[in-house]
Amino acid sequence: MIKINKELLDHIERQYPGIGDTILHYENATLPVCSRCGSTDTAEVGAGLIGRTINLAAATTKFKLIPNSPSPATYFCNECDEFFN
Ligand SMILES: [Zn+2]
Repeated sequence: MIKINKELLDHIERQYPGIGDTILHYENATLPVCSRCGSTDTAEVGAGLIGRTINLAAATTKFKLIPNSPSPATYFCNECDEFFN
């Protein structure tokens, strides 16, 4: 789910050209449901705190950002706050 409004989206697109497409890629991605609670509110995990990933994580619930790799798992559940594969 997109968490920011169109105005902010346009703003970060100017700062990080192409990020809008990346956001859409995550928004349209079919992610597995949580292996623990069955929630569909899940995200793909990415590592590395750089401006682009920080804005990506701020823009879509389907991207979960962690500071450093390796990631504990491929996916993250926004419902139970747990990583899963
Ligand atoms: Zn869950």
